[in-house]
Amino acid sequence: MDVISTRDSNHKIPAMRAVLKGISDDGGLFVPEYFPQIDIDAACRAVRQGYQEVSAMVMAQYLELDMHCLTKITHNAYDGFRGGWVAPLVNLTPNADVMELFHGPTLAFKDMALQVLPQLISQALELYDEKDDVMVLTATSGDTGKAAMEGFRDVPRTSILVFYPLNGVAPMQKLHMATQEGKNVGVCAVEGNFDDAQNGVKSIFTDSAFVREAKQRGFVLSSANSINFGRLIPQVAYYVYAYVKLVEDGVLQCGDKVNFCVPTGNFGNILAAYYAERMGIPVNKLICASNRNNVLADFFQNGRYDTRREFFRTMSPSMDILVSSNLERLLFELTDRADVLVDEWMKALGRSGHYSISLTMQNRLAELFYADCCMEDETADTIHRTYEDYGYLIDPHTAVAQCVYEKYKKQTGDDTLTVVASTANPYKFPQDVLRALNGTQTEDAFRAADMLSELTNTPVPEQIACLITKPVLHATVAEKDHLPVAVRDFIERGGKQ
Ligand SMILES: *Cc1c(COP(=O)(O)O)cnc(C)c1O
Repeated sequence: MDVISTRDSNHKIPAMRAVLKGISDDGGLFVPEYFPQIDIDAACRAVRQGYQEVSAMVMAQYLELDMHCLTKITHNAYDGFRGGWVAPLVNLTPNADVMELFHGPTLAFKDMALQVLPQLISQALELYDEKDDVMVLTATSGDTGKAAMEGFRDVPRTSILVFYPLNGVAPMQKLHMATQEGKNVGVCAVEGNFDDAQNGVKSIFTDSAFVREAKQRGFVLSSANSINFGRLIPQVAYYVYAYVKLVEDGVLQCGDKVNFCVPTGNFGNILAAYYAERMGIPVNKLICASNRNNVLADFFQNGRYDTRREFFRTMSPSMDILVSSNLERLLFELTDRADVLVDEWMKALGRSGHYSISLTMQNRLAELFYADCCMEDETADTIHRTYEDYGYLIDPHTAVAQCVYEKYKKQTGDDTLTVVASTANPYKFPQDVLRALNGTQTEDAFRAADMLSELTNTPVPEQIACLITKPVLHATVAEKDHLPVAVRDFIERGGKQ
């Protein structure tokens, strides 16, 4: 199908083109021209053949690729997930299931999309007979960078350069990136926070002189951030999967509504849930969970998006974000696709750090969305209680979602079946999880992982255990205004290490 820009709905290009492009020239994000409808019966049949089938079915509705090609892609992407689990549902309480999205190679939900995106980019290069190679630039709050590099490593005709905030990621996340292997990957720390890194990358994409320069050297620039349409679509699939799986398992009757509760940073994951709803998955509420950086929770509660506030580093670093890029896609739909208005808001945000929506729109949002935040002590307490009560270990991001779900339930009394998205393996954040469980403090992440393993009688995942012996390959640091210099260096090396 074609996609259009959130800042100019007359600007229309094929979806697979958008996968190559990342962001629109006008600074807007690409969104589907319309929402295709899911055939729930067909999806129920597909679910019996596995996650890969459902995922291909959902993607086929958006992308100009046939089912044969898409099932090949999804099998490539997901067959290697640990234990063959792609998005298993774990029942915690009578009204809540946890959907585990962290069984991929980098132990975070980012793998769900980033094991697919590089393959889509390869397909797009072929489809459009593109002569240039693709250079992917990506800002990361911790998990995207690792997952993107793992997805792109040694994929022909692609290279990837990742920017992460120097002091804004967890120790294990930093080590994960610094030890990344692959001939076509680069990593650069940024002196600033995630928003600085994300803004820096965005401004490179919209700098036409820079884009031209890259092109002259044989590279088209693209993005692996959730602003890329090709990242969003694979994420829609697991919400469809969760619903039809629950129907197939007899937990739900077809047509029954569910809630999805999602720990939110850049608004990509929960936006995918919204897209699933627009495709016809029966949803009662989408519960948006923020950490202490509660810009989104405030926005949903009072209609004002305001980044003029203190930025906190939390134990859920992948959600330490003040400018949630993908909210723009929701605003576009909320306003019935008022591109000019969206453009105005986004410009206001860039200029003065805030914008407000009308009361009518606020009420309209509240019909489908509920939002709240979870502070640091609540996060730790939720990890502790969830383990005590259910013997189930969760990471700090998942804990934020679980905590907000509990608040929602207490406040509304709603007992609709709720699927809580679990976005990372707890061993990615061993120090914080251990401290939450029994108060032990240690500076050493590996020691913490071993202690956690002993305490909970669960194994340290191989991806963590092997890190300790890997050499650090990346140590570049750039000032936040100097990202173009780092990209130019990477281009000069031909997109190689
Ligand atoms: C990226 C990430 C999030 C936030 O997802 P968004 O799509 O940015 O809202 C939550 N948890 C984990 C573990 C993540 O890696």
